[in-house]
Order: sequence, then structure tokens, then C-alpha cells
Amino acid sequence: MEPIIVLLGPPGSGKGTQAERLHEELGVVPLSTGDLLREARAEETDLGRRASEYMDRGDLVPDELIAETIRDAIADLDGKPILFDGYPRTVAQADALGDALEARDRAVTAAVLIDVPDDVVTERISGRGEGREDDRPETVRERLRVYHRETEPLIAYYDERELLRRVDGAQDADAVAAEVRAQLE
Ligand code: ADP
Repeated sequence: MEPIIVLLGPPGSGKGTQAERLHEELGVVPLSTGDLLREARAEETDLGRRASEYMDRGDLVPDELIAETIRDAIADLDGKPILFDGYPRTVAQADALGDALEARDRAVTAAVLIDVPDDVVTERISGRGEGREDDRPETVRERLRVYHRETEPLIAYYDERELLRRVDGAQDADAVAAEVRAQLE
């Protein structure tokens, strides 16, 4: 069965960077809900317009807005190895992902947690200067609160299913990439 990998970790943990690497090194197709939503917003689609206010506040976009996008993406990637970045972010999304995959005789094969403490995250985001609206300090704090409340329970969720792999994400990107690779072997 082709791998389906979930990348878990707080905002600023380097999920996007690692997703790029894994795409180059393992050929997995990265799927970032954050990127999809930013594209939808730039294109002013219905999804983009509805998601905007949540994104600017640092809150999660409601599950039902994401669900259809993900189902379509999974259908497009039938049989291909997938790497999810920024999805699932809630237990409800993880259940929905499991169901959508099961309908296609597929399943998550590994969940990699890129573990980074809050103070490192805050420092990194304030230094990266990408000009993202949601990178303002108070919005970063809200994104971290939302991560701890909504997304962190997924660590136990995937651990119970014996799919969780942990990586120290406070190292430089090369060292993190090496650990991720080792964990996926
Ligand atoms: P980060 O991981 O740094 O917070 P993302 O690019 O993954 O950045 O997400 C940016 C924003 O997009 C989130 O704060 C949220 O509003 C929205 N978003 C992305 N993925 C999801 C998701 N799976 N469910 C709900 N909202 C999401």
C-alpha cells in the first residue's frame, strides 16, 4: 500500500519545509490545507471568502468547509503516496480522514510529530517575516492556543493506533529531515 503520512506539529514547527523535503526525497505528494486555503482566498472562491475571517483570527476553519476539499484531493490522488501538512487538525477531522481513506481501501500509515516548544515557535515566526497576516504576535499566540486545545489530542489518537513517530523539531532543518527519514524507514 502506498504511504499516507500525516505531519503533526505546532505552527512554525517546520512542517512545510519537511513536506518539501519528503516530496523531493520520497516522492510523496504534499497536501497542505493552509496552502489550499490561502490559494482559495487569493482566487476569491466561495471557500476562500468563507475561510478568511477564521484564518485572520488564528482560528480553525470549520470542519465542513475543509471536508469537501480533502475528499476531492484524495480522489485526485487515488493510489498515490500522500503527505498531509496541517490536516487533520482536530479529532473530528482525523475521523473524517480515516473514513474518506477507508472508502478507497486506504489508511494513514504514519503520523510524524515535529515537536517544538512554544517559545521556539514564537521566536521563529516573529523572525521569518513572510508577511502573513496571521503571523502577528497576538494571532500567533491564538494559533498556539488552538493547537494545544484542538490538535494536540491527535498525538494520543495516532499513538493509540501505533502510528505515531516523534521527532525533535527544535534542531536545524537538515537534522530534522534526517530524523524524519529515519522514523519513516
Ligand atoms: P500553521 O500550521 O503555521 O498555523 P497553516 O498554513 O497550516 O499554518 O494554516 C493557516 C490557517 O489556515 C490556520 O490558522 C487555520 O485558520 C487554517 N487551516 C489550515 N488547515 C486547517 C485545517 N485542517 N482545519 C481548519 N483550519 C485550517
